[in-house]
Amino acid sequence: MTRRIACPSCGETEDLAGSPSPEGIVIRCGCCDTSWLRDAVPETCATCGGTELETRPRALTQYSRGTQLSIVGMTEIMLCRVCDAEMLEWSKTGRAVPPTYRPAAIDPEAAKERAEGEEDDRRLTP
Ligand SMILES: [Zn+2]
Ligand SMILES: [Zn+2]
Repeated sequence: MTRRIACPSCGETEDLAGSPSPEGIVIRCGCCDTSWLRDAVPETCATCGGTELETRPRALTQYSRGTQLSIVGMTEIMLCRVCDAEMLEWSKTGRAVPPTYRPAAIDPEAAKERAEGEEDDRRLTP
């Protein structure tokens, strides 16, 4: 699998060097000395390996006054058109992705747990 990596600062695609760090692979540009995390923005789905990814708004919430959740801001999250199809449809109706949702696009375990959870529900329902 070939990834097309370009420097976010100057657009250089050749003179780049990668080195491992605790947060992931860090890429450094030999032209302008900018460095960034290669995996900060996934280009392929972690569950199916597909490239059908979409960025959707996601709500950031915090608890205030007891158990009342309030939206304190928005961030962006990657969803896979295949693995996160349900959530993608839901978010397209104008709602933000809930902060508790773990996208399959970046978390294969979450997709597995959801699939297993659905099976449990079916078993419990007569
Ligand atoms: Zn650069
Ligand atoms: Zn996927």
